[in-house]
Formats: sequence, C-alpha cells, structure tokens
Amino acid sequence: MHFESKERYRDGNFVSFLLTKYFAFAMIKMVIKMIVNMVEMLNAAKKGSYAIPHFNINNLEWAKYILEEMETLKRPVILGVSEGAAKYMGGFLVVAQMVKALVTSLHLTIPVCLHVDHGSSYAVCKEAIDAGFSSVMIDASRHPLDENIAITKEVVQYAHAKGVSVEAEVGHIGGKEDNVNGACLNATLEDATSLYQATGIDAIAPALGSVHGLYQGEPNLDFSLMEQMKEALPIPLVLHGGTGIDDEKITKAITCGISKININTELQIVWSQQVRAFLEKNLEVYDPRKIIGSGEEAIKNRVREIVTLYEKNRK
Ligand SMILES: [Zn+2]
Repeated sequence: MHFESKERYRDGNFVSFLLTKYFAFAMIKMVIKMIVNMVEMLNAAKKGSYAIPHFNINNLEWAKYILEEMETLKRPVILGVSEGAAKYMGGFLVVAQMVKALVTSLHLTIPVCLHVDHGSSYAVCKEAIDAGFSSVMIDASRHPLDENIAITKEVVQYAHAKGVSVEAEVGHIGGKEDNVNGACLNATLEDATSLYQATGIDAIAPALGSVHGLYQGEPNLDFSLMEQMKEALPIPLVLHGGTGIDDEKITKAITCGISKININTELQIVWSQQVRAFLEKNLEVYDPRKIIGSGEEAIKNRVREIVTLYEKNRK
C-alpha cells in the first residue's frame, strides 16, 4: 500500500500531493500564528486604556498555569523570560519549544507573546530570536544614552527583519530582581524621545520611580512625566516593578499611558506562601507534582485579579 501511494505521486497525482503540503503548511502556520509579537496587543491596549500583563515564568508549571487562566479569561498575554530564568530552564530554545508546545497542546486560542525580559546584549537578544522568541527587551540602560541607542538600534534591525518586537529601557529602573540590580536613575522626556526616534523601538520602559523586587518605602511614580511621554511618543509605555504599587496607582499609571505591566515578584510571593502552608500541613507528602501544584490556585487567582485591575477603565 505504501509503495502504491508513492507510485501515485510519481504518476503525477499532484492534487493529493498539494493538499498534503497545504495542510502541513497550514498547521505549521497555525502554530506559529499563536506566538505573536506584542505590537498589536499593546497598541490595542493603549487605544482602549487598559494594560496587558507581562508575567515572568520560571518553569513549565508557571507557564501552564498562566496560559490556562488567560485562555479562560480570553485575554492576550506576554510571557516574560529573564536570562536567569532561561538559563534555569535549560536555555532559550528549551523555553521557546516548551511554550510553543503548550500553545498547541492546550489548544490555546489567545495571542501569546514570548518575550525576553531585560536582555543584556545584542548577542542575548539574537540568541532568543533565533530560538523562536517573538519579542525581546534590550536593556542597555546601564550604558550612556548614545551607547544605549547604538545597541538598541542593532537589536531592532535584527528583530524587525524577523517580525519580532523590541522594548528598550531609558533611565535606569533600579531595585533587586534576578540579574537586574542597581540604583534608580529617572528617565527624561528628551532621552526617551531620542531613544525612540533613533531606534524605532515598539515599546519603551522609562524609569519613572518604580523599582524591581520589593519596595523600601512608598513607590513614588512620576505620573506627570509619564503623561508627557504618552503625548510625545506614539509607542506604548511599559511599567516594570509592578509588585508593591497599590491598585489606585496602577490604575492611574494606565490612564497616564502605561500599556504593559511586568509582574514577577508578586506571583512568586503568592505561590511560595501557598506551597509553604501546604508543606507545613502535609509533612508526609513527597510527590513534586503535589508540592509544586499546591500553588496553582494561588497563581491563577492572582492572575485573574491582575487582569481585572488592569482593565478597570477599559473603553
Ligand atoms: Zn524589569
């Protein structure tokens, strides 16, 4: 039978041959289509006065819980992967293949963006893009502005040729989280405008008083400068260090032009609280699926609350 069907192809029955090719292509396209860059979702958010959550992932379970909850809510999502998290999971290729496989296996219908969080160099961003990431953040904010611009520009050229979106940072968002450390240096409107105009980035993360990790004292966001940037720049603004900023300030930030908010520490806290409580109550449990999975509801509940908050004034 197998031999016969081969013969038929050779005899010139191109219809079935072409159909097979077409379906294979359509299926590949379907999978690729699900991993999208963040341009469309962020522009829609900017227009509709809401924000898209960017959730950092740490492992298979985190990615799965977040994707399942966002699918239930029927909302687009950005999965952020820091260099440290990528290394922990085995590299960018492992993460890209894992997320693409989850999108297919879970039959997701929502747009999913797979984004590098704080890529520290052109080489890192290129590696992630080549591995299949649909979006990158190049964080050259520790360099002087002209160097930041030069590095960001190089990343944009490589990324845009492949349909990959780029976020860059201006000023310096301080705090302590993963491999991102250091003091805050607030951005200026001039620097933000220069970075955008010289590079053609798709989104900008200006340092405006938020910090990574946990706050020492009250977060002090410069809403007035945020609003000026919203007026002056045609691209969406990104808020890093969302954990610890109260709901009222988050809502105000969204009104002032924030269209993407990065969440990392917050999910880590609710997950670890839940797991710790579970382990204290269940001293005899050793199955890792039960231990890791005991934090599933905590993550999903927080994801749901975050989406509701970010859409409070949705038009
Ligand atoms: Zn950040």
